[in-house]
Amino acid sequence: MGSFLGVVIDRFPERSILFPASHCNHCKRPLKAWDLIPIISQLSTRSKCRYCGLKFSYWYLLLEATAGLLVVIVSMGSLSLVTACVVLAGTVISIYDIKHREYPFLVWAIFTALAVLLSALNLHFLLFLFLAYLAEKYPLRIGSGDLLYLASLSLIFPIIDLLWIIQISSVAGIFAIISLNLRKSPLPFIPFLVFASLLLLLL
Ligand SMILES: [Zn+2]
Repeated sequence: MGSFLGVVIDRFPERSILFPASHCNHCKRPLKAWDLIPIISQLSTRSKCRYCGLKFSYWYLLLEATAGLLVVIVSMGSLSLVTACVVLAGTVISIYDIKHREYPFLVWAIFTALAVLLSALNLHFLLFLFLAYLAEKYPLRIGSGDLLYLASLSLIFPIIDLLWIIQISSVAGIFAIISLNLRKSPLPFIPFLVFASLLLLLL
């Protein structure tokens, strides 16, 4: 699942997810069976293409490990399926957000539709959807994507926890801007929302 989502992030929406088969984006050589084992293949080549030696990012491994870990925790009964769905969605759109400062609406919509089916609609969800619509139409200085993900989070967290998530992620975001000197480029905020949600889940 994590491996498939890696392909989605790599290709969607610009290219087809199904064709061509997995290949190196640099030398275009198709990957063999032993290149396709999640986590292990990437570790065995120290994150380099086996054919041309070009280094590729560790986020593939991170995503595969996150998906695997979530399945294990859910099957142990320690996490609900809807929470795992929202966390996995957060991981996927975080990677999109870091790469492009935006993410495809459809990716959010599929994960969130699944999460809605597994939980129930609530007023906060609709409120964040409305705010996302406003942010899309008017310059509110916050991305509509961040508000959409807050809508997803409202399916698993009560409003008090959501306020904590907004506080913690904002403080962490300000800290990142100052310490990494990111003042010139827009901050990808979804990773901070995911970080704050994971912190609350752990606590
Ligand atoms: Zn290559």
